[in-house]
Amino acid sequence: MKSPREPDLELRGRLIRSLGSLREMLPGSFVERKRACGRPNCHCADGKLLHSQFQISVLIDGKPKALNIPTDLAEKVRQKIEMRRRFDAAAATICGVNLKRFLKEKEERQV
Ligand SMILES: [Zn+2]
Repeated sequence: MKSPREPDLELRGRLIRSLGSLREMLPGSFVERKRACGRPNCHCADGKLLHSQFQISVLIDGKPKALNIPTDLAEKVRQKIEMRRRFDAAAATICGVNLKRFLKEKEERQV
């Protein structure tokens, strides 16, 4: 027979199991810049229809870098960077559950 439901533990278990799907996560933030390419005959020359340049803004060895992303990979990279945010959110929730359990355990010992 199952012990009484513990919603926190169910939540923790669900989050832990979801982390595997985030294994392709990437660090940093996703940046879209608009720019003109400089060719005088291009549609961007009037400054209205600019080109999109996608970048990952990330720290490498403690130094901020902006790495260009090929346009066809931009959506995939954006999703992978979003995975990192979800990973961090899951970790924060798991830590919160564990801290609550730790404090409860500590309190029970002192009685
Ligand atoms: Zn152009």
